[in-house]
Amino acid sequence: MIVTRFAPSPTGELHLGHAFSALSAFAAARMAAGRFLLRIEDIDLGRCRPAFVDSILTDLSWLGLVWEEPVRRQSEHFDEYRAALDVLSAQGLLYPCFCTRKDIAGAGQAPHGPDGPLYPGTCRNLSPAEQLELRESGQPFALRLDCAEATRRVGRLVWHDRFAGTVVARPELFGDFVLARKDCPASYHLAVTLDDAHQGVTLVTRGEDLFAATHVHRLLQALFDLPVPDYSHHPLLTGPDGRRLAKRDHAQTLRSLREDGRSAVEVRAMVGLV
Ligand code: GLU
Repeated sequence: MIVTRFAPSPTGELHLGHAFSALSAFAAARMAAGRFLLRIEDIDLGRCRPAFVDSILTDLSWLGLVWEEPVRRQSEHFDEYRAALDVLSAQGLLYPCFCTRKDIAGAGQAPHGPDGPLYPGTCRNLSPAEQLELRESGQPFALRLDCAEATRRVGRLVWHDRFAGTVVARPELFGDFVLARKDCPASYHLAVTLDDAHQGVTLVTRGEDLFAATHVHRLLQALFDLPVPDYSHHPLLTGPDGRRLAKRDHAQTLRSLREDGRSAVEVRAMVGLV
């Protein structure tokens, strides 16, 4: 049984690119008599807004999508993410990182990975006593994965993408990436990987801007012994200026199209999915 999902973050209004992604996932499930899920990825409590959750539900219903209830909201599952982190911690694969963004950006000519400057590993070498002292002084910290060690333990990993074919996972591109942020007990990479497995998703449909993220999601699947879904990282829609659509481009939001009198049928035709 095919299970697909659309997993928006309520940090802005949905635009045509989201409509394409959601409709593609919905169509893939419907054509195979499968299931379609909606998940609200709202772990970033500082940036997510309840009003955008309402907009997402309104826009998707208007487009004609039907999803299973209840809708999973990540902010209601922080305990599960913490428990998963404890598993990796017990395996000696996590370490607290007290560095600020400035520390990392200022640490020389650090090469960049898909999520920004690669972490130079400063806090990986703190002694247990130094870690304890910093924790006790109340300094906020993130939790990072010792990526080299994790990769060594799981060996070579691959995944299948409907556009790119068989892809060899290269989590080392991300260095020691963050699994729990200072301001939030989970990261996107952790929550999305656990939730896709928890919800039984068999096909992850999302824009190709998230293609690289799958390198680390595949590593996490191996570490947590989770099933590996199929992936469909589709090309991104671009605006009239040739640039990819973003939440800041208000003209192309589904809400504005609707308020301008466009019908759902017209909007589906605009993204080529009628
Ligand atoms: N929540 C992510 C976003 O809105 C997408 C996550 C995913 O599809 O994996 O960009």
